[in-house]
Amino acid sequence: ATPLEVVNLSYEYAPGKNALQGATFRVERGEAVGIVGPSGAGKSTLAQLLLGVRRPTHGELLVSGTPLNDIDHAWWAKRVTFVPQDARLLTGSAAENIRFFRDHIDDAAVRDAAAKAHILDDLEKLPQGLDSHLGERGGRLSGGQRQRLAIARALAGRPEILILDEPTSSLDAVSERLIRQTLSELKGETTILIIAHRLSTLKFCDRIMVVERGKITSLGAPQTVQKES
Ligand code: ADP
Ligand code: ADP
Repeated sequence: ATPLEVVNLSYEYAPGKNALQGATFRVERGEAVGIVGPSGAGKSTLAQLLLGVRRPTHGELLVSGTPLNDIDHAWWAKRVTFVPQDARLLTGSAAENIRFFRDHIDDAAVRDAAAKAHILDDLEKLPQGLDSHLGERGGRLSGGQRQRLAIARALAGRPEILILDEPTSSLDAVSERLIRQTLSELKGETTILIIAHRLSTLKFCDRIMVVERGKITSLGAPQTVQKES
């Protein structure tokens, strides 16, 4: 069955105010779907519905053919992992976070050896220039380093579906490229939905979804999407 299917999904924060309206699409296993659209279009609302933290006002969300409503929330929460825009909530020290991921990489949903090596390599580079801060909380890490750690930690949970909300919007070009590489290597194994401002961030995606004023106005191969911003 299709891992994720959305049928006529709508969400109203207040009666008559549709943040999302009639969204219908399906996502295949291992597929990477990029989500773009102006601020306020409904992208985050869609992500929250997929995560199950909000219940749709109308429509249905099917997980392998079963309505999300009928699914045990804890079961779903284990399969879907969310990476927020700004991973401020890193707990523990950087060293602890890195050790946690190293200890779990064999469990992580990265079966391709080359991809695994690359992610580990990325992680090895992370402490550069931070040796004296490694015992400290995540606050001393740069935005890019925090975000890479957040993704690494998310992967350690072996999610089947990874949802990222503008994970690179505040990062420098190098960090952005590293994250894009990691995600493009994960694709195929893990289903990825990624919200981004820039289309260039989504080059690795199989399809691009454009959301405007609460509606999906386009969903197709990256080449079919009009250049914007
Ligand atoms: P983004 O542009 O990344 O979607 P926003 O600035 O729109 O972020 O939203 C930031 C936070 O404010 C989110 O938690 C969102 O749910 C909330 N929010 C956005 N719009 C409204 C609104 N009209 N009323 C109440 N909360 C809102
Ligand atoms: P995006 O992620 O594309 O920026 P959002 O999903 O955050 O868009 O917002 C879609 C619409 O819903 C916007 O009009 C926004 O103001 C509104 N909205 C978002 N969060 C809330 C909220 N918590 N309460 C009320 N309105 C909200």
